[in-house]
Amino acid sequence: MNTTALTIDVARAAIQERQITATALAEVCYAKIEKDDPQIGAFLTLSKDRALAKAAQMDALVAKGEKLPPLGGVPIAVKDVLVTRGVRTTAGSKILGNYIPPYDCTAVARLESAGAVVLGKLNCDEFAMGSSNENSAWNPVHNPRDLSRVPGGSSGGSAAAVASDMAVVTLGTDTGGSIRQPASFCGVHGLKPTYGRVSRYGLIAFASSLDHIGPLAKTAKDAALVLRTIAGRDPMDSTSADLPVPDYVAELENTVRGMKIGVAKEYFGEGLNSEVRKSVEDAIQRIAGLGCEIVPVSLPHTEYAIPTYYVIATAEASANLARFDGVRYGHRAQGVRTLSEMYRRTRDEGFGAEVKRRIMLGTYALSAGYYDAYYLKAQRVRTLLTRDFEEAFKKVDAIVAPTSPTAAFKLGEKVDDPLAMYLADIYTVTANLAGIPGISVPCGETKQRLPIGMQIFGKHFDEATILRLAHAYETA
Ligand code: GLN
Repeated sequence: MNTTALTIDVARAAIQERQITATALAEVCYAKIEKDDPQIGAFLTLSKDRALAKAAQMDALVAKGEKLPPLGGVPIAVKDVLVTRGVRTTAGSKILGNYIPPYDCTAVARLESAGAVVLGKLNCDEFAMGSSNENSAWNPVHNPRDLSRVPGGSSGGSAAAVASDMAVVTLGTDTGGSIRQPASFCGVHGLKPTYGRVSRYGLIAFASSLDHIGPLAKTAKDAALVLRTIAGRDPMDSTSADLPVPDYVAELENTVRGMKIGVAKEYFGEGLNSEVRKSVEDAIQRIAGLGCEIVPVSLPHTEYAIPTYYVIATAEASANLARFDGVRYGHRAQGVRTLSEMYRRTRDEGFGAEVKRRIMLGTYALSAGYYDAYYLKAQRVRTLLTRDFEEAFKKVDAIVAPTSPTAAFKLGEKVDDPLAMYLADIYTVTANLAGIPGISVPCGETKQRLPIGMQIFGKHFDEATILRLAHAYETA
C-alpha cells in the first residue's frame, strides 16, 4: 500500500475491509521511515513494540468482525514534548536525553484509546523554542518539499512526517505558532485549538499560559477527527475546559454561505513577502466566492505582539525550566563537589544556547526591579490584544491572514540572528496571547514551488467554524 494521500478514513476503511492489516500498514510506514527519514530527520525515537501491539489489537477486532474505533489502526506520530510511558521523551533536549516517562500524555492516550497506532516521537526545537527546528539538540529537520530548507518550527518533525507521508497525522504543540507555521512551510493543515480545549497533561511545559496541543494533518477533516478525539475536560489539567465537545466532523458539512470573514490590514503590512500576499489575497477571493462576506476589521495592537510574546513566553519558560536541576529528571553532571556546582554544570551541559538565552531573558523580566516594567506591562498589552480580537469577532465569524510572512527559508539562513527568527512569528503569536483557535491551511505555492499557508482565526471555543471554512475552501 502507498501511504501518499492516505487520510484517517481511508486508512481505517482499508483495515476494516481487510485490504491491509493494521500491522502491515504500520510496517509500510516503518519501511518508509527507514527509506526517507535519513534525509528528512523527523523521527527521534521509534516505538515499534507499542505500535505493533496496538496494531495487533486492531487486527484482532477486525478478525472478530467488530467495528474499528474512529482511528482504528491509523498510523500517527507525536512531537517529542508529549510524554509517552516507557518510550524515550527528550523534548529535543540533551537534558532529557535518556528520559523514559512513567506516564502518558492525555492527548496521546486518547488517540490510542481511539485505536491510533503511535509509530514514534518527532523531532522539534529544544523545549519547543524556535521557528525552524534548528534548535533541536539532535539534528535539524529538512523540509520534504525542498531538503535545503527548514520545515518550520518548533513542530518541524510533526509537519515533515505528514508532508512526507511517513505518518497519516501527527500531534504538535503551539506556544507562539509552532503548529501553524511548520504546517504552512510543509504544505499541510495545522490546528491550534482554543486554550483549555485540549488537556496539557503530559506536555513538557514551555510557557504554560500559551502552550497548546493540536493536530497536523493532510486535510481539515483529519484535523477535525483528531480534535474530536483529544478535546475535552481532563481532571489531570485544571485549565482544561469543562465544555461539551462538538462533533467537529459532522459540522464540516454545514454551509459557509453567509459567513462573515474579517480581514485585518495589520496582517498585510511591511515585511510580508509579495508572493505570500498574492496567494492569501487570492484565497480570500475564493472564500468570497463560496458565498462569504469579506469585512475589513482592525486589530490595532498587533504591532506589540512580538515583544509581548517574548517577554511572557520567556518569563514562564524560566520558571518552568527550573525543574531541570539534575535531581529529578534526566541528565546529571558527573564529578561535581557541591550541590550548587551540580545544578550549574547539569544545566550548562544539558541546555542548548537558545534555551539558555530564554531562561536569562525570562529571569531578567521577572526580577524584582524589572517585573513592573516588563512582565506586568506585557500582561497588560496581552489584555489589549485579546480585546482587539473580541471587538473584531463582534462583527465577523472568522478572520483570515497569512500564517507566516515568508515561505520556508534555507537551513542556516537565520540561525545566527535570533531576532530575525523571532520576528518571523509576527502573525502567529497573537492567537496564543488571546487564546483563540487558529488553523493554517495550504493556499498556494511560490514560483519555487514552496507551500504557502493562510491562517483562519476563530472565536474562543469555536473551532467548528474555522474547520468548516477550512474544509469548504479545501474541497471547493
Ligand atoms: N517560534 C516561537 C518561539 O520560538 C513559537 C514556538 C512555539 O510555538 N512553540 O517561541
